[in-house]
Amino acid sequence: MNVLVINCGSSSLKFQLINSESEEVLAKGLCERIGIDGRLTYQPEGGEKAVSELAMPTHTEAIQFVIDALTDAETGVVKSLDEIGAVGHRVVHGGEKFANSVVITDEVLKAIEECNDLAPLHNPANLIGINACQKLMPGTPMVAVFDTAFHQTMPEKAYLYGLPYEYYEKYAVRRYGFHGTSHSFVSKHAAEFLGLDLNNSKIIVAHLGNGASISAVLNGKCIDTSMGLTPLEGLVMGTRSGDMDPAIMEYIAKKEDLDIAGVMNVLNKKSGVFGLSKNLSSDFRDLEEGMESGNKYAKAAMEVFCYRVAKYIGSYVAAMNGVDAIAFTAGIGENACIVREYVLSYLGYLGITVDAEANKKRGEDLVISTADSKVKVAIIPTNEELAIARETVALV
Ligand code: ADP
Repeated sequence: MNVLVINCGSSSLKFQLINSESEEVLAKGLCERIGIDGRLTYQPEGGEKAVSELAMPTHTEAIQFVIDALTDAETGVVKSLDEIGAVGHRVVHGGEKFANSVVITDEVLKAIEECNDLAPLHNPANLIGINACQKLMPGTPMVAVFDTAFHQTMPEKAYLYGLPYEYYEKYAVRRYGFHGTSHSFVSKHAAEFLGLDLNNSKIIVAHLGNGASISAVLNGKCIDTSMGLTPLEGLVMGTRSGDMDPAIMEYIAKKEDLDIAGVMNVLNKKSGVFGLSKNLSSDFRDLEEGMESGNKYAKAAMEVFCYRVAKYIGSYVAAMNGVDAIAFTAGIGENACIVREYVLSYLGYLGITVDAEANKKRGEDLVISTADSKVKVAIIPTNEELAIARETVALV
């Protein structure tokens, strides 16, 4: 079956058409500037990437252009919509309502809408994408795959904040965690790749991308993760602060004369390695270059980032009373050898020894610990689209 995977943002929409038997990507692309003007980037497997400027006043037109591209007589990859068996939608926040992926029904749409408050930037956009697809592909089964679902197995002690309990009861204030599709995919694949029994394993997944989070996966189930009610908590990220003393918010608001929205903007968009490096970059390739040319802020950013990752790993070893494997994934985890090297340099006490040659490689399933290392360490490239396609097929 061919599955269309849709990741819909407020003004953009990423898509992949995946054949679920061969797990090949038949075509992929991106609609951008929806509601502004509109641009479609489309690339069939083995073919040229094509960019076209097309009017996309709403997501419905954008999805129509995606369908037109996929079924185009020359550059399309299917003859008609009949060859698309299902659509898998990434949905950011499922609150406590969704611990698994689900086939989309009217009740599901309502329940997703009820989570809008928890992810006001993302969930409404995800819903718009689902509605537009339903309009253009009536009768095609649709599945929602939630970023938060994998983390719903966290115990209360891990998801409650040290806040008045009523805030949890009245407003659903608790830790949810994100990147769940990736943490689920990578932990499963790491167990398989490393020859571990997933149901009897302690795995830490470090999903280090522009947004970054870590999870502790005990016997295949998430028991803790670093992001919280929103993706702001936890690691230092590209532009997000991660954990900090909440009193800083009031202090900075006064000093910089900012309101709450202004402070949130700083914490989400101007902090992290970007802010630490004095706005040099949020991209680790630039930070590495900066360090090499002696930029002390780039070095500070890199060190703060890696130290925080190492501390989280240490705390998850404590949470699971041990660890069998650590998997690095996402843009930084898969590619930035220097980050893995720095992080692992803190973890010798676990009996980890690193194969320095293997660690220089990137972007493929790879063991980077030595044969006698007490804990296996691996690079496991994530593939959220494939994970969504698999979940979709399993449900339809
Ligand atoms: P997201 O999905 O959150 O946007 P990604 O997982 O795609 O993030 O990661 C993007 C980040 O990965 C970039 O910002 C950059 O810091 C890092 N990255 C990508 N390629 C490399 C590379 N070759 N070396 C070092 N870092 C890289």
